[in-house]
Amino acid sequence: MKLRPHHLLCAQGYSGKGYDSDFTANMTAVTKRLREERAVTVEIVFSTDDICSKCPKMLGQNLCRDDEKVNSFDRKVRNYFGIEEKIYVYDDITREINSAMTEAMMDDICGDCAWYPVSACKKRIIGGG
Ligand code: SF4
Repeated sequence: MKLRPHHLLCAQGYSGKGYDSDFTANMTAVTKRLREERAVTVEIVFSTDDICSKCPKMLGQNLCRDDEKVNSFDRKVRNYFGIEEKIYVYDDITREINSAMTEAMMDDICGDCAWYPVSACKKRIIGGG
């Protein structure tokens, strides 16, 4: 499965709420797989991904309506954790991110996201939940 860098965080924090029913059906399926098959591999892409593909904000290949904002999320995740465009084992890379993540880093990366206060991101990533 293809994931853009900041979706390594969204996939963990997702708690069933999203833009519309197509988006949430896909997001639920994607996150179910990642959470159940922890050894699953993910291909990190610096572009739109398998979550974007069912999102009403995706305008085209590598084009999100909120491009400026989501590219900033991606850039910060790449810079903080050295994420590259390659294949990772989901369990390994999310453990690595979560063990290095601080509340200040997370507020810096995700502070502008409308879902941050709504979803379980902080609890799942730094709260041990
Ligand atoms: S808002 Fe943009 S980055 Fe987020 S899932 Fe939708 S298309 Fe992808």
